[in-house]
Amino acid sequence: MALREGALRLNLLLNSRTFYKFNSSVGVRSLSENVSSTPVTSSAPEIAGDHLIYTQEHFALKESLRKIIDQEINPHVEQWEAEGIFPAHKVFKILGSAGFLGVNKPVEYGGLGLDYSYSVAVAEELGHIRCGGIPMAIGVQTDMTTPALARFGSAELKQEFLLPSIMGDKVACLGVSEVGAGSDVSSIMTKAVRKGDEYVINGGKMWTTNGTQADWICLLANTSDGPPHRNKSLICVPMNLPGVQIARKIEKLGMWSSDTAEVFFDDVHVPCKNIIGQEGMGFTYQMLQFQEERLWAVANILTMMENVIQETIQYTRQRKIFKRPVLHHQSVHFRLAELQTEVELLRALLHCATALYIKGNDVTKLASMAKLKGGRLAREVGDSCLQFWGGMGFTSDVLVSRFYRDSRLMSIGGGADEVMLGIICKYMDILPKN
Ligand SMILES: Cc1cc2nc3c(=O)[nH]c(=O)nc-3n(C[C@H](O)[C@H](O)[C@H](O)COP(=O)(O)OP(=O)(O)OC[C@H]3O[C@@H](n4cnc5c(N)ncnc54)[C@H](O)[C@@H]3O)c2cc1C
Repeated sequence: MALREGALRLNLLLNSRTFYKFNSSVGVRSLSENVSSTPVTSSAPEIAGDHLIYTQEHFALKESLRKIIDQEINPHVEQWEAEGIFPAHKVFKILGSAGFLGVNKPVEYGGLGLDYSYSVAVAEELGHIRCGGIPMAIGVQTDMTTPALARFGSAELKQEFLLPSIMGDKVACLGVSEVGAGSDVSSIMTKAVRKGDEYVINGGKMWTTNGTQADWICLLANTSDGPPHRNKSLICVPMNLPGVQIARKIEKLGMWSSDTAEVFFDDVHVPCKNIIGQEGMGFTYQMLQFQEERLWAVANILTMMENVIQETIQYTRQRKIFKRPVLHHQSVHFRLAELQTEVELLRALLHCATALYIKGNDVTKLASMAKLKGGRLAREVGDSCLQFWGGMGFTSDVLVSRFYRDSRLMSIGGGADEVMLGIICKYMDILPKN
């Protein structure tokens, strides 16, 4: 019954809200029906067969999103990459109006009320955007700044910050990392001191994606002098308050179209009611939020890797060296086959973790494994494929060189590879205790 209602809601909301209607050739069916029984017309090869976690609704959602990507985003990517920023308010309004900024968020706050597998499907599809910066900015909005608010925030807070973020009326950013604290989140220095019914915030945040354009920040700050895992809180802070300063926009190796800011907080007064959930629980909420961030990042980069492999196949098939296509050299086609195999293994891990997550399991270990593997595989795919493009791969004109630059972040951001290894070791009970 619940599944049937979810399918109905998805159908109704998407059809009523968006001008990007589902393709009429793809019928939306109940979530409980068997996917394989009805043949459908789609460019997605896997749509015709059984799928581990995706139903017709997932594929319909993907197809609808693809139209927005092809019509409203990809035609502008070159310009936005060159400008070092994309118009987040404009793009988010388009995505929000179509329901894509809150597929797994509550219906009463503008979401579609679906399970997390739909967010994974959306993240995969966003991988068709021809750069890493814009999908990352969207992911920050949907899966990095809002999960804790949706789960633990008060109704008033959700009305003020979650609803407009889902509708695309407000741009959000996440303030966890600082100049002196990235991998070690527990050592952040930003303080929010309670004075009456306000917090007074002092400190600074580094590497804040969407930071120069955001309307609010989901800020992790120390709200007491207690032990580092129990003294932190997540607070929704409007970015237009007196004392919030964008210190600078950071120039980067990749992710050019995504703005990254350093932000200072100088005696910023915020009502205490802006706290998400309970005071002192911020570290725990953020660790939970990281699970979705990591699954999202893996889903997103999977599609990018696949696209880079496919474009490399096309290029090397027509490019001739020593009187035959580059692709016909065994070292080339074997390597591409090996990379595609690794991509499929990673996809299997992601979908397994997603299936367990939507059933309510803690998938921290699997999500960390997938994030670790995703970062390492992206570096291999970028490096190997770029090599097969020869000099062309070294130009800025091709997707592979942008992927090579952008995807390097995967092994650093949202928890570096070594941080993932530490978490995996903890779950394997092989991490030496200090
Ligand atoms: C483009 C970009 C966007 C970002 N967006 C955001 C954002 O929106 N919000 C936000 O809060 N943060 C954001 N970040 C920050 C990101 O999450 C951090 O950069 C990341 O967590 C690493 O922290 P750090 O840079 O301080 O590196 P450090 O913590 O200084 O780590 C340096 C290196 O040490 C190594 N290392 C770490 N732990 C261990 C260990 N246990 N054992 C051995 N070696 C280890 C790793 O190789 C790591 O790369 C962003 C970063 C970038 C570059």
